[in-house]
Amino acid sequence: MPSLASFLPRISPLLPFSLLALGLAASSAQARPSLSVQPGTAKPGDPILVTVRGLSGAPSGTVAGRPLRFFEAAGTWQAITGLPVEHPIGMAEVKVEGPRPAAGRPVALVGALEVVEPGYPERQLQVAGKYVKPAASVKARIAADRAAFAAAFSQSFVPPLFQRDFAWPRQDRITAPYGDRRSFNGKLQSQHFGVDIDGDTGDPIYAANDGVVVMARDCYSSGNTVILHHGGGLYTTYFHLSRIDVKRGTKVEQGQKLGLVGKTGRVTGPHLHWGVKTDGLWVDGMRLLELDFFDTSEPRVATSEEPPPQPSPAPAAEEAASLSSNP
Ligand SMILES: [Zn+2]
Repeated sequence: MPSLASFLPRISPLLPFSLLALGLAASSAQARPSLSVQPGTAKPGDPILVTVRGLSGAPSGTVAGRPLRFFEAAGTWQAITGLPVEHPIGMAEVKVEGPRPAAGRPVALVGALEVVEPGYPERQLQVAGKYVKPAASVKARIAADRAAFAAAFSQSFVPPLFQRDFAWPRQDRITAPYGDRRSFNGKLQSQHFGVDIDGDTGDPIYAANDGVVVMARDCYSSGNTVILHHGGGLYTTYFHLSRIDVKRGTKVEQGQKLGLVGKTGRVTGPHLHWGVKTDGLWVDGMRLLELDFFDTSEPRVATSEEPPPQPSPAPAAEEAASLSSNP
């Protein structure tokens, strides 16, 4: 299986993201509102990082219609979300609105993120029949697991608990990337919402970033499972462990050992299934690793441009004009 990264688009600065800032010019170039988005081009299932500079307070906004939850980060405002895996190829609209430093109307920033074909492959898998059609006796267990997952993923929104970009939970061959379409035993159709990393039973697994353990549990399908909450609406999940070395409620640091590779739950052999969830969506962990959360340089995807002063413009009309003028 070739690395997913080899056929993924790279971040391409300045293209094709474009945007328009409405209203009068800010008092200084430094305070000029701007918006940048990572990655530069996205595929369905990607995590998306939105950074807004030059505002005097929290913005509000959307990516592809999904509301953003902003947090303050070193003088900027950031939000993390994802593109749903079923998002159509084409464009995703990014809209942000917030207070400008000088008195006056709020500033509106709008742009279009290019969404490219993901090329997710299809594969057939064989697993023990009990995992495809669970017996009635395990249905209660599966329901309890589902409730435990829902509880783990319902943490209060807090700013990021991490100070570094994300890192691999272990480095080995990728046996199945995010997005594989799967049929189990020729029947049940599903899509793979994690990255499978090869390993032998007993190999160590590390926290991909700082966070808090919100699940450490033996589950029917995912086996021994650890879930970390990283703040900013981000979670990482670690499935099929042979041993769990952390307890629920414990703070962990990036690189801290969470447990050992195993083959517990619905698996064909020992490996780590590494998942990333943000804003209620399973997204591609390999793309999370490419996000630069602490870029202090100028926006590299898009910079706002002040239009000539307009006599009381209607925001909706202005935004439509900026989108239609995209190259
Ligand atoms: Zn997997």
